[in-house]
Amino acid sequence: MPELPEVEIIRIGLEERIVGKKIIQISLLNPPSFHGDSLHAQGQKVLNVFRKAKVLVINLSRELTLLFHLKMSGQLIYRPKSYQLKARSFSGGHPTQDMQREMPNRSTRVIFEFNDGSKLFFNDQRKFGWVKLVNSSQLSVDSFLNKLGPEPLEREFNWEVLKDHLLRHKKTHIKVALLDQTVVAGVGNIYANESCFLAGIDPGIRVSQLNDDQFKKIHKGIVVSLKNGVKHGGSSKTHFVDPEGKKGLFLNFAYVYGRDKKPCKVCGSLIKKIKLGGRGTFYCEGCQTN
Ligand SMILES: [Zn+2]
Repeated sequence: MPELPEVEIIRIGLEERIVGKKIIQISLLNPPSFHGDSLHAQGQKVLNVFRKAKVLVINLSRELTLLFHLKMSGQLIYRPKSYQLKARSFSGGHPTQDMQREMPNRSTRVIFEFNDGSKLFFNDQRKFGWVKLVNSSQLSVDSFLNKLGPEPLEREFNWEVLKDHLLRHKKTHIKVALLDQTVVAGVGNIYANESCFLAGIDPGIRVSQLNDDQFKKIHKGIVVSLKNGVKHGGSSKTHFVDPEGKKGLFLNFAYVYGRDKKPCKVCGSLIKKIKLGGRGTFYCEGCQTN
């Protein structure tokens, strides 16, 4: 599942390429992947591209909005009309070998064609992802979006906002609370682990035990780790095959996530892995002493 930085990278990539263009045709290769009447979006212009947590939001003319959730295996691939413009291609989402090759492919579910002949392909091998067309006015009442907590990369997200939201879960382990999408929107397992490390905080400490200094450190840890993720192209940019032949994520910027039994990059202690709230939790006993 892509985390917030991956979706932010897609947002930036699409913003540069599709804003101002008109959608002239939408082809539904797998109709259940598209919710709403796609005909309404045809002929509409792309006004802007933004993001709410892990949902990509494309605002169109006529008060229409397209929402994309990539879930486990979604991809958004943009291709300019002519081969000469290949450098303008863009691929984002779950990494696969064939995402750089010819489109559409077997996983393509929806194709958007723009007035300049360029195309946006929504690919989704496992079909858990979705595209939704809604009236823009419905966004504020969309039940999924409404439940989300503050957006961590927006200026309004400060340590006091975080503290306020965390204190609704006083008995919860801090790392588990960070995964709650009503506390902070879009933080998944990788960044919850990394945030606790950067804050120097034991992931198993309960929210009720934290003081203001620690809330400030966790806030900073969330923002810094997410920004690092965006800077490094997200967590799933590079795939590698581990010795057992399984594909895994190669996170060369991570301090703790996926690094159990490896030495801490800061103090050299071996990174430990435990389970908290059913999720793999990685931490350094040397650095996370608070
Ligand atoms: Zn350490």
